[in-house]
Amino acid sequence: MKAAIIDGYIDEPACFGVPPYISPYIRYIAGAMRERGLKENDISLFTIDELRKNLTSTAEIIKKADITVIVAGMTVPGKYLRSTPISPGEIENIFSASSGMKILGGPIRLGFSMEGGKKAEKNLEDTTDAIICNKDIEAFVYDSLDKDIHSPEECQHRFRSVEEIGRWATKGSFIIKKHPDYPNLMCELETYRGCGRKKHCSFCTEPFYGNSDYRPISDVVSEVSELYTMGARFFRIGRQPDILSYHAIDKGDNIPEPNPEAIRNLYKGIRNVAPELKVLHMDNANPGTIATYPEICKEMFRTIVKYHTPGDVAALGMESADPKVIKSNGLKATPDEVLDAIRIINETGGVRGTNGMPELLPGINIVHGLIGESKKTFDMNYEFLKHVLDSDLLLRRINIRQVMTFEGTRMYGNDELVNKHKKMFLKYKEKTRRDIDYPMLKKVVPSGTILRDVMCEINESKMCFGRQIGSYPLLIGIPANLPTGKFIDVTVTGHGKRSITGVPYPLNINTASASLIRELPGMGKKKARIINSMSPFTGKKDLIERTGYEEILPYIEF
Ligand code: SF4
Repeated sequence: MKAAIIDGYIDEPACFGVPPYISPYIRYIAGAMRERGLKENDISLFTIDELRKNLTSTAEIIKKADITVIVAGMTVPGKYLRSTPISPGEIENIFSASSGMKILGGPIRLGFSMEGGKKAEKNLEDTTDAIICNKDIEAFVYDSLDKDIHSPEECQHRFRSVEEIGRWATKGSFIIKKHPDYPNLMCELETYRGCGRKKHCSFCTEPFYGNSDYRPISDVVSEVSELYTMGARFFRIGRQPDILSYHAIDKGDNIPEPNPEAIRNLYKGIRNVAPELKVLHMDNANPGTIATYPEICKEMFRTIVKYHTPGDVAALGMESADPKVIKSNGLKATPDEVLDAIRIINETGGVRGTNGMPELLPGINIVHGLIGESKKTFDMNYEFLKHVLDSDLLLRRINIRQVMTFEGTRMYGNDELVNKHKKMFLKYKEKTRRDIDYPMLKKVVPSGTILRDVMCEINESKMCFGRQIGSYPLLIGIPANLPTGKFIDVTVTGHGKRSITGVPYPLNINTASASLIRELPGMGKKKARIINSMSPFTGKKDLIERTGYEEILPYIEF
């Protein structure tokens, strides 16, 4: 039996799978297929971007596949540097080329929309004859491959169990080798899903999973061990709504009590089985958990900083600073509580790490269009962010979006404010980018900072764009064309609202172009031209004697 898995990419609030990330779903599906007897060589993997490039050869493989599985869905769509998520038209085309079993799943089951601020439409049935998994695609694939099942229509839609993904995650780890980004691939890891709060936020789909189904620490560690054996070196513990609540203790309160030992054993275990890993990052942390259990959470952040790698981000779901919106939507924390959480993370993670980025910084997620929003909400959110900036606290990322509503949530059908406030939203977003993000970025990575291991990803006109592999990595524009896939160190030379510019470090002053030299701290067009016209230089002394440009010495070589 032959199988084709198409990674159409996923982007959820608590799971990411756009290159260089591979989502856990792809690996679970491959593992479920292996457990049903398929051989590694009989399971193909294509990303949608790969498929677009090699249409003829991949179409042949899909045509011959007995089962074609597409994983897709963006519940919080963003802009992606070099990847474009699959569209409904492409799903239709792929399935029409396939003559075997056709299965579509992932977050797309909740609906489809290419951008935030819209209702996710559930009309995929009209465009494809594939089976759309209403629950977990990996469980559906597993059940469909049962010898006693004659047609996938006989299968029930169901959630997979923690025990099942414990097995499938390790068995499916081989699939990473078939990903076009391998070995520079970030493996998103799952620790649990389902929200442990008693009261849920109006817009969130996480409560659909029910109570938190914590994976055993040993399962996550075994998965990392297998992935590491397969060559994985980049990991993010990203698939959970709140890392601080992993194996938390439910004492009947709105927020369960965090379990610092679980976090310690998880991180320590991962480090033991993957000693040479290059990145170990995290994602979401609930500011309400930090506010309710500040001392325990401080201890947990210390543990994380001890075992992780620098450049890490704890994304805090604040959503709003407006008390009326917080109350009407059952949000997690008050502005004062979020501010405390930001302070706590800065105290533990604010020091600069070996890759040039601070060890661990908070990120902030803000959602607009929620019930009870008014003009004042925009002012309050802006003022909150301004206060953070003026308090010399660092934020790595401010994520502002308009709500996308899903059937089954309280927000569904109550999103009229999204359109009503659209103009106001765009204006405020621009102001925030200009007056908050820009100065914040200058504090997070001042000019002259050396960022290590930046992966060159795409060349556009005369610029190369690259990022460190990590959780919410900074986009860096380098005024040169560089080989993609190559890792370089970069001197930060300038700032945009959400990205930075830089030049390779150390810059060879005798061979570099004027457009690179002029970017160096203290340079400019005129000085760069002078250097170019006087080069080569034999060394530091020669450069100083002939130009006097001492300020560039920390960033160059000869
Ligand atoms: S706290 Fe709110 S946003 Fe977070 S998982 Fe629970 S319901 Fe969703």
